[in-house]
Amino acid sequence: MIEDTMDWLEPQSEAAFAELLERNASERKWDGIILTGSEITLNRNLPDMARRARDAGFAHVRIQTHGMHLANPAFAQRLIDAGVDEFFISVTAGDHETHDAITGRPGSFEKILAGMAIIDAYDVVIITNTVLTANSFRSAPALVDRLAGLKRLRQMEFWNYWPMAETDRKSLLIRFPDLIPVLKNAIERAHAYGRRVEVKNVPECLLGAYQECLVNDQPELMIDPRFWGEFGRNGFDQCVHRNQCASKQCLGVGTAYAQRFGWEADILAPLTEHNHFNSRENNEKTSYL
Ligand code: SF4
Repeated sequence: MIEDTMDWLEPQSEAAFAELLERNASERKWDGIILTGSEITLNRNLPDMARRARDAGFAHVRIQTHGMHLANPAFAQRLIDAGVDEFFISVTAGDHETHDAITGRPGSFEKILAGMAIIDAYDVVIITNTVLTANSFRSAPALVDRLAGLKRLRQMEFWNYWPMAETDRKSLLIRFPDLIPVLKNAIERAHAYGRRVEVKNVPECLLGAYQECLVNDQPELMIDPRFWGEFGRNGFDQCVHRNQCASKQCLGVGTAYAQRFGWEADILAPLTEHNHFNSRENNEKTSYL
């Protein structure tokens, strides 16, 4: 979703990281940190960064990764020994044909599964992250079933694709009437396996009994400030019913979606104070890119 910015955003500096650690060591401001950006497992300093974060009082160190390097047992062990205890793993689809076509790496789906099987033997938390696009969303229920055997898989996240652009240049957006039944099926299955589910970028009024799954909050983000100019191109918070709607969590319909499919005024319905879900957790993490 941020692919066009990844070529030119500057990573955070070592000095900024050291300052963040120092701040947490003295103030205990955050409970957890997420180390991410491009592909964090390619950073040779990752175990050292995790160790330093633990020493600075972060109770949890999460990495956001495509998960392929976790299939190397020695590497997985090194990360866990260094203090990484949460693995946020991007799985793009529920079958190897679709996933490998999206990643462009034959064998990547099987490698992720192998990596997850390895860390599943440790006392860690696994969270999956799946961006739903026109190319992948129909396999979301199959993904839930495919991961049924993982003991440490606590949460599955489904992020509805939302380009940081005014148009859907790659035709990856999914019309809501196509998306919602498949998404609800995936949520229902995940709940049956005891997983927590978080959904992002979907109109709250379309989620029915699963409104509580919509969590659009994000951790505090330390990133190149030029990111925010691009982020604004999303066009969040637009909906023809926005002024009548009580939802606190919904991000409405984005510019690119409206440009392609219209504002969907007839299928969206404003929520009242009584029928929206209003219990949200505080963010306790900071995200460091
Ligand atoms: S009516 Fe609009 S703002 Fe309200 S929940 Fe639906 S999409 Fe979101």
